Amino acid sequence: MKMKKIAAIVLSVALSAASVMSVSAAATDGILTVGTGKVVCIDAGHQAKANSETEPIAPGSTVTKAKVAGGTHGVVSGLTEAQLNLAVALKLQAILEARGYTVVMCRTTNDVNISNAERAGIANANKADAFIRIHANGVANSGASGVVALAPSASNPYCAGIAAQSQQLAQSVVNGQCAVTGQKNRGVSLDDTMSGINWSQVPVTILEIGFMTNPSEDLNMANADYQAGIATGIANGLDVYFSNLVVTP
Ligand SMILES: [Zn+2]
Repeated sequence: MKMKKIAAIVLSVALSAASVMSVSAAATDGILTVGTGKVVCIDAGHQAKANSETEPIAPGSTVTKAKVAGGTHGVVSGLTEAQLNLAVALKLQAILEARGYTVVMCRTTNDVNISNAERAGIANANKADAFIRIHANGVANSGASGVVALAPSASNPYCAGIAAQSQQLAQSVVNGQCAVTGQKNRGVSLDDTMSGINWSQVPVTILEIGFMTNPSEDLNMANADYQAGIATGIANGLDVYFSNLVVTP
């Protein structure tokens, strides 16, 4: 009965900030345990040292990319993207576990050497219900800011079967994060060039949590409390995503 009520709340509102608030409020009351039985795989993007060896961008593809690119860095904070991604990923792990989720981490330190295809392999092997890849953006224009979530398109030659759920996942987490932090919501961007997406057999998104090339966004994201807000927002988005799945035939 309680689940019905919550399902109605989720159904009645699209993936708006209002629905995120409803679900997270219910979750803290202990009424809704969306996380129970759900496996979330978290990949903190990049690592201490890039790996320029190449691998196919998808199963059977002749197109190759570096196993792990270097990533961007904070123009003011001086953080590497690998460090920021890991800090947020570890906070997200703690929040999700507190909400009853089973969490699989692709890495918990920066000193690893795991290719993007291998990271997808970890999510696949653990039959993750959602694969969240945490990244941060970097561009030449220091004014660019905000959050964008990447997902495969319906015409992706390798993983079209997970496209629809991945797009819902992407929309849910980008909305969740922006509802908490107030960052600009840049929505979902369809991308079929990412190895870690193309190798995935489970719903996947790359969440670009902000621009490290924007001085104020970089400083915000370097702050531990702000990182906790990002992680809370992503967790709220996952609650919404799984709540919607519960009521979708
Ligand atoms: Zn990245």
